[in-house]
Amino acid sequence: MITATADFAPPAVRQTGILIGDKFQPAISGRTFSTVNPATEDVICEVAEGDAADIDLAVRAARQAFDSGPWSRMDARDRGRLLTKLADLIEANFDELAALETLDNGKPIGDSRAADLPLVIDCLRYYGGWADKIQGSTIPVRGNYFCYTRREPVGVCGQIIPWNFPMLMVAWKWGPALAAGNTIVMKPAEQTPLTCLRMAELALEAGFPPGVINVVPGYGPTAGAALVRHPMVDKIAFTGEGNTARIIMREAAETLKRITFELGGKSPNIVFADADLDAAVAGAEFGLFFNQGQCCCAGSRLFVEESVHDEFVAKVVARARERRVGNPFDRNTKQGPQVDQAQFEKIMNYIDRGRSEGASCVAGGNRVGSKGYFIEPTVFTGVTDQMDIARDEIFGPVMSILKFKSTDEVTLRANDTSYGLAAAVWTRDGAKAHALAHKLRAGTVWINCYDVFDAAAPFGGFKMSGLGRELGEAGLANYTELKTVTMALG
Ligand code: NDP
Repeated sequence: MITATADFAPPAVRQTGILIGDKFQPAISGRTFSTVNPATEDVICEVAEGDAADIDLAVRAARQAFDSGPWSRMDARDRGRLLTKLADLIEANFDELAALETLDNGKPIGDSRAADLPLVIDCLRYYGGWADKIQGSTIPVRGNYFCYTRREPVGVCGQIIPWNFPMLMVAWKWGPALAAGNTIVMKPAEQTPLTCLRMAELALEAGFPPGVINVVPGYGPTAGAALVRHPMVDKIAFTGEGNTARIIMREAAETLKRITFELGGKSPNIVFADADLDAAVAGAEFGLFFNQGQCCCAGSRLFVEESVHDEFVAKVVARARERRVGNPFDRNTKQGPQVDQAQFEKIMNYIDRGRSEGASCVAGGNRVGSKGYFIEPTVFTGVTDQMDIARDEIFGPVMSILKFKSTDEVTLRANDTSYGLAAAVWTRDGAKAHALAHKLRAGTVWINCYDVFDAAAPFGGFKMSGLGRELGEAGLANYTELKTVTMALG
């Protein structure tokens, strides 16, 4: 169903420059790129296109702020206060930021307001609380020595983020990095630079000293690659595709940078016959279709026990058909457009491939309208393990349903993937749920729920889904170096 009404209006765009130190400026080359509204395909505005020269300036500003600026002398508690202030300013500008996110990314305004923004604010407050609690320990070494450890910041952190949760990725990256005392050069995704730039403006207003946060919009192979190669950058934190991560890992090897990766997935969502079926259906819908299916942890391999398969399919298909697709500024819209033409084409191609591989398309499968990158919520049944739609990350509103008969069988099949980001289990049998949760090779396992995120709970991938963790204390640890100090006592 396509909807035409709008309850919210797009906001004015305030910031389109490169932030270096405390100034927004044009690119040195003078070049710009267009950011496009995926619901209308219209250009929203031009944004400064940073490249290696701008990255170099930004890194030098971050280096100076880290090595000798006021940031390097600031008490941890004051760093925490700045993060809290930034969260407060984001809250004060809630309506504008939610609408800007919806304009640039296409996600429904209801999601921007109920999911993205609250998680952003909570994450920054959570890490604000950590800043003065990052402690070392004393170690009882042999001999007459006093030995202790300190957790120190890594230094200048290059942060490269994707377009699926633009603001939330900023919060996940800035929160732990700043709490630990690092400085930042961020490259937002070319599709969605606007909320990152507005958040950077608010960070200056909050009082972060010049050079602590620098933002260089631009393209991955130019600006992103220059950040990865820069010898003055100590760490790269990246979220995106595995193939990009491979390039980054190779490039970062030259300067042996610290690396953390949050990559894709093909997460199994396993529904047993003894589950609360309606809850599982709702969880399957949310776990796959949320954010137009553009989630690294989407439950994109939906395993359903044979005895409830047909009933489950009937219910999930009904829900898929009811999902309201359309204007993301309408408060009742459940599904907006995909982020850009390339993603739209990739997904439509997988839908064609699913049909030609012999799966049955029992809901959706088509474009919605003729303007904007809208795709019907799509459900495939009869999917088998070797089909491309069961193995590749589609990153769109395409659900693949697979049948299983026993716990042992589904455990093996669920783990038969190079990914390992997330998984879910639906059953009323608690022991079965936990036993399976322990066997699943995934960084997160949800039981009788899906996509439950909290700033305190670590998130990241096994296998090719990532390296290191974000969120929680584990996320903070990835932004610190551990130093051991030993003193002779006589
Ligand atoms: P990418 O991995 O290419 O993009 C993520 C970020 O990395 C962007 O900021 C991008 O810049 C940047 N980048 C690209 N190339 C380089 C490079 N050589 N060096 C440094 N940085 C670079 O993902 P895409 O946006 O192209 O999406 C492709 C697929 O990746 C999706 O279909 C989906 O399957 C997966 N994906 C997974 C995500 C996740 O959360 N795990 C998020 C987004 C996508 P630029 O702005 O030029 O793109």
